[in-house]
Amino acid sequence: MTWIERIYIWNILKGMMITLRHLFKRKATINFPEQKRSFSSVFRGLHVLNRDEEGRERCTACGLCAVACPAEAITMEAAERLPGEEQLYREEKYAAKYEINMLRCIFCGLCEEACPKDAIYLSQTFAPSNYSRKGFIYKKDDMLIPNPLTEPETYKKALGERPAKMIGNQ
Ligand code: SF4
Ligand code: SF4
Repeated sequence: MTWIERIYIWNILKGMMITLRHLFKRKATINFPEQKRSFSSVFRGLHVLNRDEEGRERCTACGLCAVACPAEAITMEAAERLPGEEQLYREEKYAAKYEINMLRCIFCGLCEEACPKDAIYLSQTFAPSNYSRKGFIYKKDDMLIPNPLTEPETYKKALGERPAKMIGNQ
């Protein structure tokens, strides 16, 4: 070790040069939540349980999403639609209970692909942080999209940037 290395000045200068160089570089971080990063068009976030254009729940509680889920994150209970409930549920059977454990979910999107009714899709938002595990068990009401007939504005907002080709099909 030379005397100049022994007094560490050279190493300190080298470290300061690196700091200085990074001062003028474009920052890799953003000021979240004031600033938000735009997601890729194929980003898969929080699940939304979809309604049809008449505001009826699309899910028929067939269970295909739960079967397709590799993380076994979905649980549901089916119920039969009663006379007079036709404006609430599109099919004769509906999900009386529908839950997704977001701590298990790997956001693979297989539930969306498996669904024959366009009843579930992964949106462009993500689950907010929570202090308890229970808070990550999302229930039907947490995921159900607002009714397009009674709350058109919140419905549109919840729909987000979902590709137009997917909206209102089937
Ligand atoms: S995104 Fe994947 S892991 Fe998450 S609930 Fe759907 S199928 Fe399961
Ligand atoms: S979300 Fe789709 S696949 Fe899952 S139970 Fe409902 S209709 Fe079936």
